[in-house]
Amino acid sequence: MKRVLVTGGAGYIGSHVVKTLGEKGYEIITYDNLSSGHEWAVLHGRLIKGDLADKDLLDKVFEEFAPDAVMHFAASIQVGESVREPLLYYRNNTANTLNLLETVSRHGINNFIFSSTAAVYGIPGRVPVEEDAPLAPINPYGSSKAVVEQMLRDLQFSKNFKYISLRYFNVAGADRDARIGQAYKESTHLITRALKTAKGEFQKLQIFGTDYSTPDGTCIRDYIHVDDLAEAHILALRYLLEGGDSDVFNCGYGHGYSVREVVDMAKRVTAKDFIVGEAQRREGDPPILVADSSKIKQKLNWRPQYDDLQYIVKTAWEWEKRLGPGSAPFS
Ligand code: UDP
Repeated sequence: MKRVLVTGGAGYIGSHVVKTLGEKGYEIITYDNLSSGHEWAVLHGRLIKGDLADKDLLDKVFEEFAPDAVMHFAASIQVGESVREPLLYYRNNTANTLNLLETVSRHGINNFIFSSTAAVYGIPGRVPVEEDAPLAPINPYGSSKAVVEQMLRDLQFSKNFKYISLRYFNVAGADRDARIGQAYKESTHLITRALKTAKGEFQKLQIFGTDYSTPDGTCIRDYIHVDDLAEAHILALRYLLEGGDSDVFNCGYGHGYSVREVVDMAKRVTAKDFIVGEAQRREGDPPILVADSSKIKQKLNWRPQYDDLQYIVKTAWEWEKRLGPGSAPFS
């Protein structure tokens, strides 16, 4: 069976992909510094605790494991934080990816799957946004990923190297059996934040901006279930291993929900009428981000199973209820 090295495999999305890879029989090594990931989240394969800044360790792991493909999830992912700490994002997301790509290149690995983001589009001129829309990020998080996409485009022409860049829209939800899910020390994402408020961890949920030019004045996002996204990774991996060419795909369902609609769903699923306040717009937030996902459906034959906001919020809630203090699940 093929060997896959997964950076950030102990994190939220990475761990769902490791689970899916494991179920399909791939041999896996997770390389993760555990800065926001967790040992318990790695359900299959070996975990190496290591940082992408540590080129010697990377070299050693690549030498020993000799992966057929690399999936690269390890990154910092918060838009607001990236506006406050831009260099941290260029360090963690751009410079560290350069280290990884140098290692990948030195070891002659030709198959690379990159976790990109809809944030590379900035404020798209047209929604749903297609993959060939201009890349014009409006926050350092998006810029730090857009630079990597450029590196990948350049690298593919210099070598036999091939990559797939998956541009994630708003990933949410959790494993159906609530074994793994989002477990950050500080959660800023809307669904998790709403559920933690329902759980009593926060006094109220703030809606950032109610004066956007959207039907209810709040931002619209395309929420995709993490297990559908995991499946997209498997398809991308197979495609590359079978000789497919480098490409870029949006990962979303093609329709969006406003912040208010998500909050209403969180209240319904949890049956808790938590307090909701209104706050200033958050810097770096585009009003509407919705994917045109026809390309991944056509080319990779992606067939999402969980295009249902209620299921997304419900699985996230089941997980959230298991999550104890210290961001670890109870029992
Ligand atoms: N949001 C909000 N209150 C929160 C967290 C998020 O109103 O406590 C809004 C945020 O401004 C954005 C949307 O919810 O419009 C989705 O934000 P999130 O951080 O979940 O994902 P992003 O789109 O930034 O990747």
